[in-house]
Amino acid sequence: MRPDALLPLFAPLDSLPGIGPKLMKPYARLLGREMPRVINLLFHMPSGFVDRRARPLIAEAVPETDVTIEVQVDGHQPPPPGSRAPHRTFLSDASGDLVVVHFKIEPARIEHMLPVGARRWLCGRISLYDGMRQMTHPDRILDAAGVERLPAVEQTYPLVEGLASGHLRRAMEAALQRVPELPEWIAADLRAARGWPSFREALARLHRPSSPHEATPAGAPWRRLAFDELLAHQITLALVRAQEEKAGGRATRGDGRVIERLMAALPFRLTGAQETALVAIRADLAAETRMLRLLQGDVGSGKTVVALMAAAIAAEAGRQTALMAPTEILARQHHETIAPLAAAAGLSTAVLTGREKGRAREAVLGGLAGGTTDLVVGTHALIQDDVAFRDLALAVVDEQHRFGVEQRLALARKGEAVDMLVMTATPIPRTLVLTLFGDMDASELREKPPGRQAIDTRALPLDRLDEVVAGVGRALAAGARAYWICPLVEETDTSDLAAATERFEALKSVFGETVGLIHGRMSGSAKDEAMARFARGDTRLLVATTVVEVGVNVPEATVMVIEHAERFGLAQLHQLRGRVGRGDKPSTCLLLYRAPLGETAKARLAILRESQDGFRLAEEDLRLRGEGDVLGTRQSGLPGFRLARMEWHAGEVEAARSAAAARVRTDPDLAAPEAQPLHVLLHLHERDAAVRLLSAG
Ligand code: ADP
Ligand code: MG
Repeated sequence: MRPDALLPLFAPLDSLPGIGPKLMKPYARLLGREMPRVINLLFHMPSGFVDRRARPLIAEAVPETDVTIEVQVDGHQPPPPGSRAPHRTFLSDASGDLVVVHFKIEPARIEHMLPVGARRWLCGRISLYDGMRQMTHPDRILDAAGVERLPAVEQTYPLVEGLASGHLRRAMEAALQRVPELPEWIAADLRAARGWPSFREALARLHRPSSPHEATPAGAPWRRLAFDELLAHQITLALVRAQEEKAGGRATRGDGRVIERLMAALPFRLTGAQETALVAIRADLAAETRMLRLLQGDVGSGKTVVALMAAAIAAEAGRQTALMAPTEILARQHHETIAPLAAAAGLSTAVLTGREKGRAREAVLGGLAGGTTDLVVGTHALIQDDVAFRDLALAVVDEQHRFGVEQRLALARKGEAVDMLVMTATPIPRTLVLTLFGDMDASELREKPPGRQAIDTRALPLDRLDEVVAGVGRALAAGARAYWICPLVEETDTSDLAAATERFEALKSVFGETVGLIHGRMSGSAKDEAMARFARGDTRLLVATTVVEVGVNVPEATVMVIEHAERFGLAQLHQLRGRVGRGDKPSTCLLLYRAPLGETAKARLAILRESQDGFRLAEEDLRLRGEGDVLGTRQSGLPGFRLARMEWHAGEVEAARSAAAARVRTDPDLAAPEAQPLHVLLHLHERDAAVRLLSAG
């Protein structure tokens, strides 16, 4: 049960004055919630701020900086009827004159706001136009009472269409009135040492800062709120861990017969790194405790094969394995890698995604419940309620950062004391591993399978497109297969999609039927078909949006063209490039960029040309852009975190972790009275996985 103290914060957003059912739509989009609540608005972080403290005279105002000036209204010059000219208002102070310019405005309205002879205050930026000082569309026009209330520093917020900034500010103000004083969950000594305000004060000061420093993620208010979020996350991880330990694990030991058949079926030998990882996994499975292990390895380093071996051990013990991938393409791809080897070793496999329906789905569910299926590969369709296993022992989660802790736990609940293997192709720095996963053992596949060749990487401006097309033509003529990537920032972004389709048409007019197209808006079966045609060589140039980003494996592909490389993060470029260089032939990657390049983009492309070490690239990416982008996310936030920003708050992860560990070690279900404030925190941050484990006491 949600604590009563939180009720005002979890009231629907339209309980605030001024927000009716109509505005709920844009707010839902803005806050990423179907039914936004007051707390979601309060946790909507600013994107910048305007300093309103500069109050110069007109003649002293530095052009193009934010100023607030006090003026006398001298007269108006409305545009002639039918003209598109702006409405001009003439103003002055002791130092000089100013013209305010408004386009498309009712003269009556502006004359009402700026009555001739009156004294007014304008907020905005002054520019010089034909030697005249001019302010176009002031941010604010205030009278004496208004300027009294003008904050010194004003936050600006990300907006969506249909939502004006003034409206958002008023809603925020109303929301702040609802914030109750909550019991403190941060230890007194830590709070004092950091100089942090209370939760209530932190929200108030963040949204109504009194200085620029206080307005930013570096300031105490934001920092405290970020710490709260990190603490809620670490407590969740610690509670889950404690619960798992209490429940104990099961020893899963194989007799080696399936592994032996698998090894015989493999067309290659395991690398040293794969062997080492497998030894660790075998020991984890055999132990009476639960495994929670991260398998990190660059694209193509051979993680899937290791997962298959782990599944073989489980099968030898008569138990089942589920491998969950973030997308349907990946799930099918994994299954294709796995199925022939598994078949040769006598392991029975199945696929379960959103596309299996009706009888086909019934058959898969039957195999899982009956125990005839040893290994199922799928998407989050695996965690649907009616999916049951006879005896699930091992859960493998691929690209975990796309799944929350909730989903990992939901999969684990499908069996008894399930061992967990998390695979990621993103070489995550240690601090981030702790943040995202909590304490985990880790295996790294740094060594690539033998025979892989370096990828010749080059950067070219887009105006050399013709040369690139000619080069791709020569490669195709020589029998090569090539990817051509067009950026698609969001699956719903129609202009980007149009660009990809246009490129496809253009390349088809040059190369004919050998060109294929794949993008995220296609149906699952159409995507599979496009991928399959490329894998078979029916098409040899595949125009793709970033849906092919992760995990797709066509060893014959040796050319990768990436259009608008400047729009991608380093990690994502590295992932994309990893689609080639998977066979034994030399490969090329061409990064096409729109000139001129910014400094960061330039540095990013240079590093990419130099290095193919994913770990090094991850560190550089971190240095260049902050950790949000290491994971290829567009926001600067961490996935699953609304307030914490890695580049600012990474330093607090350790403090949050040790606070959580200390608490949970002595009080594993937070039953003690001192732990009650933490219950409030967990509810506040909607950590349902943790809330479920709390003692009712
Ligand atoms: P990842 O999952 O890490 O991206 P995969 O397990 O899909 O990598 O392996 C990529 C490709 O390399 C696959 O075609 C796989 O069969 C092959 N491969 C895996 N391990 C080895 C190895 N030890 N030697 C040669 N090829 C390997
Ligand atoms: Mg893989």
